[in-house]
Amino acid sequence: MLLFGSTKTFINVPVFYYSKVIKKIAIERMRILYDFSRIEPVFADRYAELIRRISAKSRTKIPLDIKRRICKKCGHMLFPGKNMRARTSKTMKTVNLTCLDCGNIMRFPYSREKVKK
Ligand SMILES: [Zn+2]
Repeated sequence: MLLFGSTKTFINVPVFYYSKVIKKIAIERMRILYDFSRIEPVFADRYAELIRRISAKSRTKIPLDIKRRICKKCGHMLFPGKNMRARTSKTMKTVNLTCLDCGNIMRFPYSREKVKK
């Protein structure tokens, strides 16, 4: 009996139909792990690794606010004031986030807020 042999034929639903659900769950899990890392900083680096792996496996983008708290080079979770330094550069018009564990600098562009008339 091939009742549970292949989930694709058993469910008989195209992949793109339930991929949206998978992505929703993936983002939810990433947010939970991110919240845990704030509560338990001891396991923060492990949580950062798990967030990256969930995003790779489900092919989902990491939400921007979480992405900017994970170092791109060493993969550590960044805590402002502890292992991260944030500065703005006037000439380059970027926010420079420096990882104090490995020295990597991540730059994100900013633009001046438009004044409403
Ligand atoms: Zn780093």
